[in-house]
Amino acid sequence: MPNKTKSSKSKKTGSSKGVKYVYFFGNGKADGNGKMKSLLGGKGANLAEMTKIRLPVPAGFTITTEVCTYYYDHNRTYPPSLDRQIDEAIAKLEHAMGRKFGDTSNPLLVAVRSGARDSMPGMMDTILNLGLNDRTVRALAERSKNERFAYDCYRRFLQMYGDVVMGVQKRPGEDHEPFEVVIEELKKELFPKDPHVSDTKLDAAALRTLTDRFRKLIRERTGKDFPEDPREQLKGAVGAVFGSWNNERAIVYRRKYNIPHEWGTAVNVQAMVFGNTGNNSGSGVSFTRDPATGEKVLYGEFLLNAQGEDVVAGVRTPEPVAKIQVQFPEVYRQLQDVRRTLEGHFKDMQDFEFTVEEGRLFMLQTRNGKRTGLAAVRIAVEMVREKLIKPDDAVRRIPADSLSQLLAPVFDSHARKTAEVIARGLPAGPGAATGQIYFQANEAEAAAHKGTKVLLVRVETSPEDIRGMLAAEGILTARGGVSSHAALVARQMGKVCVCGASDLQIDYATGTLTVRGKHYRKGDFLSIDGTTGEIFAGEVKTSPSDIVRVLIDKDIKGNDSPTYKLFAQLMQWADQRRKLEVRANADQPDQVEHSVAFGAQGVGLCRTEHMFFEGHRIDYVRQMILAENADERGRALAKLLPEQRSDFVGIFKALGGRPATIRFLDPPLHEFLPHEESAQRDLAEKLGISADRIARRVKELHEFNPMLGHRGCRLGIVYPEISEMQARAVFEAAAEVQSAGMKVRPEIMIPLVGFPKELELQLEVVHRVAAAVQKERNVKIAYLVGTMIEVPRACVVADEIAKSAQFFSFGTNDLTQTSLGMSRDDAGSFLPRYQEEEIVRQNPFAVLDQGGVGKLMETAVRLGRSVRKDIKLGICGEHGGDPDSVKFCHRLGLNYVSCSPFRLPVARLAAAQVALKD
Ligand code: ADP
Ligand code: MG
Ligand code: MG
Repeated sequence: MPNKTKSSKSKKTGSSKGVKYVYFFGNGKADGNGKMKSLLGGKGANLAEMTKIRLPVPAGFTITTEVCTYYYDHNRTYPPSLDRQIDEAIAKLEHAMGRKFGDTSNPLLVAVRSGARDSMPGMMDTILNLGLNDRTVRALAERSKNERFAYDCYRRFLQMYGDVVMGVQKRPGEDHEPFEVVIEELKKELFPKDPHVSDTKLDAAALRTLTDRFRKLIRERTGKDFPEDPREQLKGAVGAVFGSWNNERAIVYRRKYNIPHEWGTAVNVQAMVFGNTGNNSGSGVSFTRDPATGEKVLYGEFLLNAQGEDVVAGVRTPEPVAKIQVQFPEVYRQLQDVRRTLEGHFKDMQDFEFTVEEGRLFMLQTRNGKRTGLAAVRIAVEMVREKLIKPDDAVRRIPADSLSQLLAPVFDSHARKTAEVIARGLPAGPGAATGQIYFQANEAEAAAHKGTKVLLVRVETSPEDIRGMLAAEGILTARGGVSSHAALVARQMGKVCVCGASDLQIDYATGTLTVRGKHYRKGDFLSIDGTTGEIFAGEVKTSPSDIVRVLIDKDIKGNDSPTYKLFAQLMQWADQRRKLEVRANADQPDQVEHSVAFGAQGVGLCRTEHMFFEGHRIDYVRQMILAENADERGRALAKLLPEQRSDFVGIFKALGGRPATIRFLDPPLHEFLPHEESAQRDLAEKLGISADRIARRVKELHEFNPMLGHRGCRLGIVYPEISEMQARAVFEAAAEVQSAGMKVRPEIMIPLVGFPKELELQLEVVHRVAAAVQKERNVKIAYLVGTMIEVPRACVVADEIAKSAQFFSFGTNDLTQTSLGMSRDDAGSFLPRYQEEEIVRQNPFAVLDQGGVGKLMETAVRLGRSVRKDIKLGICGEHGGDPDSVKFCHRLGLNYVSCSPFRLPVARLAAAQVALKD
């Protein structure tokens, strides 16, 4: 090769001289390898790797992602040396294949395939059979002695090239691709009695007619002729692949999965192998294990006499790959070998694409397969048992978020028995979903936005449906197999999906779904089970997952649930590795119990006011708020005291010696009073006071800026008797439980502190009451008093606050609101736009804003520790259950994260993952 790779420095300068832009693979040798994903893209790197391990890969070359970057940096032009490098690679390819590009006796045909660093299913466009024109197609027909095959390739090429490169696509308002419309029309002419015949029924003459009509369609729609010259075709195709990096659906996908726009895509140019030569050929997609359940079986599908696009696009529904065993026993045996080779080499479940040409197997792609949360856990745990990987790898590779899928509900078994199964499809994304049906992605999105639970129902999905799929609870399609677009995307998003339910007749025009004579209209309810493929009429009740049943409901035993056992094994590995503690946000004894079952090592946030709404208590709370003097208030508080105390007793008992962070009353008082006139009148009657008095009090308590009013410690400072009552309830409960022989560790948390003096005033109350109760009951209680850090001022004076605070807990919900000056409840109107404009990458209320709020936390940690070395640090906002935020907290050196009970497994795994990076 004349072009040697230069050091990465010379690449960065933007000079293209001497930079290697084209990497060849073929005949057991490759310029690149599987590690070079950022340069060659995932597909290109693995094609090189598979070539090297001697799997049968058709030869080809990869144009690097650097060319894509260059292309966008240089006004859509290419590096000067690229043409020459491509020419050299083509010459090499021609030599390897013994065919020539554009040759009129033995033409070389190629596939032009995109390939980003991370696979982006269906996002980028692939063009097959490039190199065909009116002359080479005849050569292909003669050489193969198979005219039908040659014209089948040609019509496919025209269709893909016309669509992807020349832009002949569905116009707004059209429901079908224009090329498909031409095909349907021809079928109607040729088979008036059976217009839905399979494409394989079209003979050579019919296909030739199609190629003529396709060329005419291209001319009509674009005003241009389809290019005959293969070099020009190649140029157009390469440009289209780079261009498609910036099409809307690719951008939407990257935003959703946080793939940087700067990465760019590579282009792979590869010799064609043909699955469409007849019934001795075909194409398939397989997984080395079942991606839905994780079971160790060759899983996938195969379509006879077809090119790969047919399998992926879901135009025809393929057969399970196991059936190859009968037709091609030799190929099946080879596939089993390939499966072992791939897993042995890549040490992970692979999703691979292959073609059989005249009984010979060719590998076209492999990548780590997308899988459901359940499959991720099963595969990782079983691979450790098979000694393919180590427990560390298992912990590292399971996306922490996917554990939430294992906890998701399934259909209630009783409800399911009585539910009417209206049809069946292929189980493609497990779980239970119920919702109102919508047929158009944009309508589904709009309905979901309004809070409707939506099922997206389509004949098949395509990349432009992504937004609707994201918004839907579940996805149901009439056509396509388990590796169709719908299935692939659903699995990745963790959506429930049933596909290829061929009994469904969908009429987009009238918005109706007809199943065996019964009609369902837009907005009607259906339910789908993505684990079995069943489709039910109406809403079907759901029931908890195995893990919830074992840990919470306790109606099955862990040993009887394979899923639970896998989960428990993984959690054990995670717990052995993590350094962060995990706690739960829980307010009531039963929630605390559930949290402990999910692995909580304590309560990180007990919101005392949540107990205020139970039963009679709200009346006492209201009496307290409406009190005209300290005396009246005292009487109301005295009634609340025993109630609070008994709650804390329950919580301490459920914790069995684990710590509990108890936050004192936080919300503004008007939240406890009725705002409507009629409700105020009712309350007045009940309490024997005038309705006017209530209305007046509500008015007094009104906040002009709801997040910034009389709340948090400001309540306890103006009404110290409230804090006093709460402190007494905590310590009396602690004394009671401790005297019964159980350890208690109360940690009293004062909310919304910004000034050190605020904390000092509340501390005085807490310590005074603690001393009194300990004396009265003659016990010694180990307790801490600290503060919730949730306003920026607290972060910047954290050293002063730490003089009296024994712990900090970052209340990142409010800290985000107050730092950004953005109300969580009102941000919905502009946040989506902010994300689109990339002002923020993610919703800062879900994923911690590390660059801003995170900096404030860092400051608080540093200042706090400078004064009190052993200050205990935690986080208790929503972010405590978000994997990225958990990892950030580990790096900050916090002691624990606290999150809602169902997020605990996610937090445990994320904490282990970040610990493994140290
Ligand atoms: P995607 O990234 O959308 O999967 P691919 O580049 O893998 O796109 O191409 C889609 C399909 O086209 C593949 O499944 C494969 O079957 C077929 N294909 C790709 N390259 C070739 C080739 N060299 N010969 C025959 N078929 C091919
Ligand atoms: Mg592919
Ligand atoms: Mg708060």
